[in-house]
Amino acid sequence: MRVWIDQAECTGVGACVDACPQLFVVDRSDGLAYIETGGLRYGSHQPAPIDPALLESVIDAAEDCPQDCIFIDDAA
Ligand code: SF4
Repeated sequence: MRVWIDQAECTGVGACVDACPQLFVVDRSDGLAYIETGGLRYGSHQPAPIDPALLESVIDAAEDCPQDCIFIDDAA
C-alpha cells in the first residue's frame, strides 16, 4: 500500500498529523503537509510506502482530510 498527498489542495490544517503523526508532518515554512518515512520526505504526488501497522491511522488521515487530498492505493 502507498499513500500520497496532492499538495495543490492542502491547506496545512494538519488533520493528517493528528490522525497519524508517525507519517505526516506540516512544514511551517510552506504550510504544506508532507509524508516522512524511512528517512525520506515525500512531497506532492510522491507515493510513500505504508507500514502495515500504520494503515488504519493512514486511512483515518485520508478520511479526516478536509480537502480530500490524501490518496491511498494498493500498488507495491
Ligand atoms: S489533512 Fe489534508 S489539507 Fe490538512 S494538512 Fe493534511 S493533507 Fe493538508
